[in-house]
Amino acid sequence: MDSQHGVNLDREQFCCSVCLDLLKEPVTVHCGHSYCRGCIESCWDGQGEREEYSCPQCRETFHPRPVLKRNNMLAEVRGGLCSKVGTV
Ligand SMILES: [Zn+2]
Ligand SMILES: [Zn+2]
Repeated sequence: MDSQHGVNLDREQFCCSVCLDLLKEPVTVHCGHSYCRGCIESCWDGQGEREEYSCPQCRETFHPRPVLKRNNMLAEVRGGLCSKVGTV
């Protein structure tokens, strides 16, 4: 984290581009974009069974469907945003 940002953490970094809200259970896909687990899963479920799954943000495609891993870094920072702001 860039300590220079302090309180003004880039909110976009913690927002899901699907629901436009703060990430709930953040997961990061291979292209580096992050989504709520529920959002990206329902997005991909909506695409049906297919060979490729695409990132809603940059359209990068993945196949087979990636296993989503919880992004602990984002989850922790997000938690920090709620409890103690700007003390990093
Ligand atoms: Zn979301
Ligand atoms: Zn992407």
